[in-house]
Amino acid sequence: MRKVVTVLGARPQLIKASAVSHVMAQSHYGLREVMVHTGQHFDANMSGVFFEELGMAPPAYDLGIHGGTHGAMTGRMLARIEEVLLSERPHAVLVYGDTNSTLAGALAAAKLHIPVAHVEAGLRSFNLRMPEEINRMLTDRLARWLFTPTAAASAHLLREGVDDACIVPTGDVMYDVALQQGARAEPVTATLDAMGVASGAFALATVHRAENTDDATRLAEIVDGLQQVSARMPVVWPVHPRTRAALAGLPRPVTHAGLKLCEPLGYLDMVRFEKHAAVIATDSGGVQKEAFFHKVPCVTLRDETEWVELVDTGWNRLVPPKSAAEIAAAILDAIGKPGVPIEPYGRGDAAQRIVQRLHSDLVA
Ligand code: UDP
Repeated sequence: MRKVVTVLGARPQLIKASAVSHVMAQSHYGLREVMVHTGQHFDANMSGVFFEELGMAPPAYDLGIHGGTHGAMTGRMLARIEEVLLSERPHAVLVYGDTNSTLAGALAAAKLHIPVAHVEAGLRSFNLRMPEEINRMLTDRLARWLFTPTAAASAHLLREGVDDACIVPTGDVMYDVALQQGARAEPVTATLDAMGVASGAFALATVHRAENTDDATRLAEIVDGLQQVSARMPVVWPVHPRTRAALAGLPRPVTHAGLKLCEPLGYLDMVRFEKHAAVIATDSGGVQKEAFFHKVPCVTLRDETEWVELVDTGWNRLVPPKSAAEIAAAILDAIGKPGVPIEPYGRGDAAQRIVQRLHSDLVA
């Protein structure tokens, strides 16, 4: 048996890890996973619900670290993860995506000469003002295995001089999860009824990127834009805790009756709304792809995206959130306009490919 410590802490990482952990638990791979939850996301509806819904065992370690500045949070994580790694002495450390938990896990491991596996390697926005861009570039630099979700991600790494032998194209683990869990997100009627919306007759919105929540002007334009859409059709908006705090600071309250703000949803309810929305407006990486998985047109409220293949093929439109009128027009215009058929995220076996490679290099 070889031991793999997985370090995670934010909502999308729990969703991605659910696919990989289930495969890694199969005894013939000879790998034992020890999960460390940093505590970056800690509310029941941002963390616990995903362990329950996606059938994951509770983490072996829950470090309870959240809040504070990026440096302070990452520093506290680094110190505590190092302690865990010194006592667990794993053969590899597995990290996901681009959060402070990702960087802290990778850095703690690399300093102890423990090889790092990075799932969702190679994504780039080329915008160093995004905390995520810094986290993912540094994590890629430290990783021994770079599991890439798309051809564009592999190409970025090759261009940066990463050894080809370390780049492992796998497809996207979120596609695995969407395929495995999508069928469980039926029936939908009760969920839609409870929100007062009908299938195909509402928009779904999520907003949580710092570039939108920490900029009151951009956030106000987004709110106004969604309010304009809500005059035409209801907008369901599960509000991220960071966004809830930012909305409270806006000079004008969110008022339109058609704008249906709610608490963050569990994964299955989120998928129910995604599948039945007429259009999705988001700044989330995961939600952009899920819109495509469920064949729903998407508007991305950002200046750039890492998932460029969806913009190139008409599934997604980039709308920098500078004007409420432009945001509303783009969302309403996207309805009924899917993109061209493509298959950029693999075949839904990314988790297996990841575990297979770890098995070959660590066990076989
Ligand atoms: N998600 C969820 N409930 C919500 C909003 C999002 O379960 O209320 C899921 C969504 O379906 C996707 C993931 O969270 O699988 C995306 O995470 P998030 O938007 O927090 O981060 P990002 O993908 O931008 O890193």
